[in-house]
Amino acid sequence: MFLGSILPADYPDFEEFGTAPCAESDPDAFFPEERPDGNLMPNRSAYPMEREAKMTCRDCPYKLRCLEYALKNEDTQGIWGGFTEQERRKLRRGMPVRMRIPEAKHI
Ligand code: SF4
Repeated sequence: MFLGSILPADYPDFEEFGTAPCAESDPDAFFPEERPDGNLMPNRSAYPMEREAKMTCRDCPYKLRCLEYALKNEDTQGIWGGFTEQERRKLRRGMPVRMRIPEAKHI
C-alpha cells in the first residue's frame, strides 16, 4: 500500500535523516496502556516502557517535527516527540511539564 494515500497531508517527513529510532523499537513502549482520561494506569506499570520510549525519542532527529505534529493533531495517541498524551495536553494549555527522564531539561 502506498502510505502517501492514507497519511494526512501534514504528516511529518520521517525519512530526511534516515529511519526514525522508533521504527526499530517496541511499539508497546510508545503506546502504553492508558485510562480513557489519558492518565497512566494507577499501578504505574507502564512507566518503564514509557521511559524506554522517551529515551528513544530523546536523540531522534525528528523530535521537534514529531512533537509539533502531535500538538496540532489532538487525537494522536501514545508518545510523540518524547511526550505522552497527558504531557501534550499540558503543553497546549501552556503548563510546565516535568520530563521523567533524568537527562532532559524542563520546558
Ligand atoms: S521523536 Fe517521534 S519519530 Fe522520533 S523516535 Fe520519538 S516517536 Fe519516533
